[in-house]
Amino acid sequence: LPKRLQGSVSSVWNEYITLAMKYNPLNLGQGFPDDAPPSYVTQSLADIAKDANPLLHQYTRGYGHVRLVQALGKLYSGLIGRELNPLNDILITSGAYEALYSTIMGHVDTGDEVIIIEPFFDCYEPMVKMAGGVSRFIPLKLQCKTEGPISSADWVLDDAELEQLFNAKTKMIILNTPHNPTGKVFHRKELERIAELCRKWNVLCVSDEVYEWMVFDGVEHIRICTLPGMWERTITIGSAGKTFSVTGWKIGWAYGPENLIRNLQMVHQNSVYTCPTPLQEGVARSFELELTRLGKPECYFCSLPRELQTKRDFMAKFLSDAGMRPTIPEGGYFMLADWSPLAQKVDLSSEPDKYRDYKFTKWMTKNMGLQGIPPSAFYSVPNKNLGEDFVRYCFIKKQENLDKAAQLLQNWK
Ligand code: PMP
Ligand code: GLN
Repeated sequence: LPKRLQGSVSSVWNEYITLAMKYNPLNLGQGFPDDAPPSYVTQSLADIAKDANPLLHQYTRGYGHVRLVQALGKLYSGLIGRELNPLNDILITSGAYEALYSTIMGHVDTGDEVIIIEPFFDCYEPMVKMAGGVSRFIPLKLQCKTEGPISSADWVLDDAELEQLFNAKTKMIILNTPHNPTGKVFHRKELERIAELCRKWNVLCVSDEVYEWMVFDGVEHIRICTLPGMWERTITIGSAGKTFSVTGWKIGWAYGPENLIRNLQMVHQNSVYTCPTPLQEGVARSFELELTRLGKPECYFCSLPRELQTKRDFMAKFLSDAGMRPTIPEGGYFMLADWSPLAQKVDLSSEPDKYRDYKFTKWMTKNMGLQGIPPSAFYSVPNKNLGEDFVRYCFIKKQENLDKAAQLLQNWK
């Protein structure tokens, strides 16, 4: 095994999909919608299949199908108040996953340090390792609250701790807002602090914004690349899978200044080369439609968060009724809940896993038919204990399935 792969294990996704296939639980684990995507999105693919243009079934431009980068260029130029050059400032990737990979492989060198905020989307750490970099972690801490509901805004970075992590070896910080799994939407003050440290230490910021449209309670999603001095040091990542509820399409992108995107293009051309043409064309047509109604109530980027907020509140209620303590997310489509008040109701002795949240989620899958994700998967080894009292549930699910989950927990004696 090459050194860069030593110590690698199957990710939580591979493990929990296998578990779901075996026990067939109600699956609130991996994040994907279980309902039909918007019909014009799937219809675009049907139209493309029948399109008279045969080239829609052949290779397209390696760095991104022109119609798609143009649509994205138009969208983000408006959102960030800066004219993007669609051909040079945007790269289309095989999901946000590949955008992360190309960014990290394209910028991190042997011995470079990368700051990762915990809990973190689990692939960040192995990708940094693959690039020969060194991950330095800082956990979000839950501000103690004795009463009232916990908000994702109560998960905060310790300012002094953050400052101490920056040094001459720091190459990059990876930010994820709205955040998976807490649902935290970083507020302006928090972003300004991160930006200040990036400028001071000449550090790149990778901003994983795949849940950019899913924000609730009127909270604003702020793109860190719009802060002073940040455009030239930020690579922002998005996902069509999240944006249009088609996670199986695996189309993503990265945008930023040409000189930074260039490195990603090199990794992309030497690994993936080009992404599927029909899917890129379909995403392009979908964006073109939404661009005509941006900000209007019927725009999917407005209707989706509106519908999700109702599901979020429904889930928060049934988890609380069951005795768990949920964190109410300001964004994303996941909810963290503290399950430790239910410890007496579960018998975890039969589960051989090392971490309590793994034991709990496996026990729940097998005995209650309800699957969640163990958040310790989103922590570095020394900090995994911070995730053990929690479970992550996904709420972008049909009402009937949320009802079933509520029922299962309600009937639990
Ligand atoms: N980043 C985060 C925070 C995610 O939750 C996900 C989940 N899929 C990804 C990146 C990867 O997105 P994609 O499915 O587009 O590869
Ligand atoms: N982002 C989703 C989640 O966190 C899907 C995971 C994945 O793409 N591997 O559940």
